[in-house]
Amino acid sequence: MMKLACKDLNPASTCDFVATGSSQSKVVGKMMAHAKVNHPEDLIGMSDDEIESMMDSKVHE
Ligand SMILES: [Zn+2]
Repeated sequence: MMKLACKDLNPASTCDFVATGSSQSKVVGKMMAHAKVNHPEDLIGMSDDEIESMMDSKVHE
């Protein structure tokens, strides 16, 4: 199981959301959808590609 938490991306975050999935790309997809709705202010100035590679690098088991 792969995981990525909001706290992995932003240690100061108070959000407890954790995206989980069987593959890295599924986890990134879930986190992308969550972040766009819940944390748009953290994504300002970043392209989808930049956001994806940033999230990709932080996914862990
Ligand atoms: Zn969150």
